[in-house]
Amino acid sequence: MQRRKFVKDTLTGIPLLFLTPTLLASCDKDDENINPNGKTVVVIGGGISGIAAAKKLKEKGFTVIILEAQEKVGGRMRTDRSLGVAFDEGASWIHGPNGNPITSLASQSGANTFLTSDDSVEVFDTTGTAYTDSVLTSAENQFNSALGAVRNAGIQTQSFQTVFNSLYPTQANDQLWKYMLSAFLEFNTGGDISKLSSKFFDDDEEYTGEDVIITNGYDKVTDFLAQGLDIRLNTRVTAINYSNLKVNITANGNTIEADYVVVSVPLGVLKNNAITFTPALPTNKIDAITNTNIGNVNKFLLIWDTPFWDTNLQYIGFTADTKGKFNYFLNIKKFTPSNGLMTFAFGDYATVTESMTDSEISNEIMLNLKNIYGNGIPNPTNFLRTKWGQNINSYGAYSYATNGSTSADFDTLANEVNNKVFFAGEHTEREYRGTVHGAYLSGIREAEKIIDL
Ligand SMILES: Cc1cc2nc3c(=O)[nH]c(=O)nc-3n(C[C@H](O)[C@H](O)[C@H](O)COP(=O)(O)OP(=O)(O)OC[C@H]3O[C@@H](n4cnc5c(N)ncnc54)[C@H](O)[C@@H]3O)c2cc1C
Repeated sequence: MQRRKFVKDTLTGIPLLFLTPTLLASCDKDDENINPNGKTVVVIGGGISGIAAAKKLKEKGFTVIILEAQEKVGGRMRTDRSLGVAFDEGASWIHGPNGNPITSLASQSGANTFLTSDDSVEVFDTTGTAYTDSVLTSAENQFNSALGAVRNAGIQTQSFQTVFNSLYPTQANDQLWKYMLSAFLEFNTGGDISKLSSKFFDDDEEYTGEDVIITNGYDKVTDFLAQGLDIRLNTRVTAINYSNLKVNITANGNTIEADYVVVSVPLGVLKNNAITFTPALPTNKIDAITNTNIGNVNKFLLIWDTPFWDTNLQYIGFTADTKGKFNYFLNIKKFTPSNGLMTFAFGDYATVTESMTDSEISNEIMLNLKNIYGNGIPNPTNFLRTKWGQNINSYGAYSYATNGSTSADFDTLANEVNNKVFFAGEHTEREYRGTVHGAYLSGIREAEKIIDL
């Protein structure tokens, strides 16, 4: 790996940060006319947190360059349209649209939304019998009370599962409770209940309002926000040296110099030491990276020629024997012309799916659906899947408080180092961690820190 020396553009005083012709060709010409403070910021990662930071800094006159490892921006807001329907591999919903900054961004970007209703659901047991509304409502009320009881009894070193099982030994083995623990709690937090903190599992905040789902692809939002920014795609950062006045960033064998760096890569990338920091990050930062965790959620889209389910329903639940195993179905037909169901794998089972073949997964999903709709239902004609745990750009889906961590760890993840290295990303926004809006707010927060220096 060859490090290149920093060169100044003598005419404008703007550093020519990258020295390969291809990279130079992608320089944003607009940046040459504004840069009143002469400061350069390199943002690592072109997910919504990095893009938000870059946009705000550029508006304030900084020269900003985003280095993104992948072939496109968006990170965990990634849409696959290969089957003619927008399959969002990562985020799909705007959680709590009231007051949520993503709501107006979605509308400005041309992202269409559909108001979802959590009550539009039928839940089936393994014999294919639907639970009555009154049983479901009562179980959900008890479940919500149980969450409060676990929180109150929670101990920092103990997992949600340990505390829950001791408080609710009967419910721990109940099909419907296992379904709720997985499809509600593990989906919401991202963490398997065996690793989720009993004390801090849900101490984050929420905006209000029924969730809306983006129907034509969440990447519309990041594509919109990224307009006009100087973004270097296919550029994977491997090292950051902040031991000198300027920060040196190594990517694709080149070294780039900047006044400040915003590290917006996911927690999983930090946990896997994919970027070497010189000097090493402070001990409390390393501890926070170690203590917190990134969970796994995988998504599966199945398409049929004709639907066999009640297409008026929003969701279909199934009390699968194995926790996290294709127990929740989103009816895509409700808001697109496509005869599709999206299902999920949560927690530890999400990781199990990553070593299964497409046909093994499809067969297992079909077994669950046959329990509900009978053996006569047809096989799907098309199938898409994700493998977030193995994805080297995130090594997981979203961050959560694990047993051993405290919520304060998320604040430590957000701490800047030496007023030169700044950290953004969903995992740094304690109150809204694990969400698109949390990631967005974290980028704005770090940009403001730099602006205020
Ligand atoms: C399956 C799933 C479902 C979800 N559902 C929802 C939902 O419905 N609603 C919601 O609000 N949130 C949801 N989320 C969470 C949401 O997607 C994330 O919180 C948010 O998109 C994270 O944004 P970010 O900028 O922090 O990280 P990212 O979007 O991951 O961006 C980080 C970027 O860094 C890049 N990168 C990584 N390593 C390097 C490197 N070495 N050099 C350069 N670049 C690098 C990555 O390629 C990536 O583009 C979901 C996530 C997943 C995975």
